[in-house]
Amino acid sequence: MNLILLGPPGAGKGTQAQRLTERFGIAQISTGDMLRAEVKSGSPIGLQAKAIMERGDLVPDAIITAMLAARVAKPDCARGFILDGFPRTVPQAEALDLMLREKGIALDHVIELKVDDAALVERISGRFSCAACGAGYHDRFKRPKQEGVCDACGGREFTRRADDRAETVAARLAAYHRQTAPLLPYYAAQGKLRAVDGMADIDEVSRQIAAILRPPPLDAAAGAV
Ligand code: ADP
Ligand code: ADP
Ligand code: ZN
Repeated sequence: MNLILLGPPGAGKGTQAQRLTERFGIAQISTGDMLRAEVKSGSPIGLQAKAIMERGDLVPDAIITAMLAARVAKPDCARGFILDGFPRTVPQAEALDLMLREKGIALDHVIELKVDDAALVERISGRFSCAACGAGYHDRFKRPKQEGVCDACGGREFTRRADDRAETVAARLAAYHRQTAPLLPYYAAQGKLRAVDGMADIDEVSRQIAAILRPPPLDAAAGAV
């Protein structure tokens, strides 16, 4: 199964992708996480991306597309993948279509998480994650079960992203509306776009996604016959 999770920053893509990987054993590919790893290691890509990310702008398509092509070729993607944060521009989507066509891989669904801008600001400003395993949390909406201890790995150190500051959020939302939202009609035209209510709580969003991935059996869908 090959999926794209599409939605503005803070919509819940990473949260839902983490759950889907556990459930289906397919790879989560987050270009944001990959870029943050490049920045941390001080690689040439990281050096180029750091300032762009801190401003809330998008990293150039050529860098991202090359990074993604290398990632999709890794063995853990053989059973399928969830793209979280890619594509973010029409040229990236076109490059992905070409890449998948050459490899004979089909894209199953593009799932849009619909969330209002006002809610996004609150989601982004309360976001933090486990420094050891990357599990995502929120000050109000998803606190660890035991205060100060990661549910997933027992880690006790947490981090906040450099770009999750109020000043940067407006730029990221503007980039989403200008550069990424055009992907909605792009995938609708391919008949692949499915929307879920991203304003609902985390479990409800997961249920809506599960319903898309596993539609009810034909006789149930047809009603009482
Ligand atoms: P994205 O990957 O789309 O930027 P995240 O999955 O990191 O978004 O979610 C942003 C923040 O909002 C995180 O702190 C997460 O715990 C929280 N969150 C995710 N989904 C929901 C939801 N449905 N309701 C409330 N908070 C959520
Ligand atoms: P969010 O979880 O808030 O949606 P991401 O972690 O996906 O954010 O991305 C963080 C930053 O990394 C973006 O603001 C952008 O600068 C850069 N980035 C990530 N993915 C892409 C991409 N596909 N194209 C261009 N820039 C990207
Ligand atoms: Zn952890």
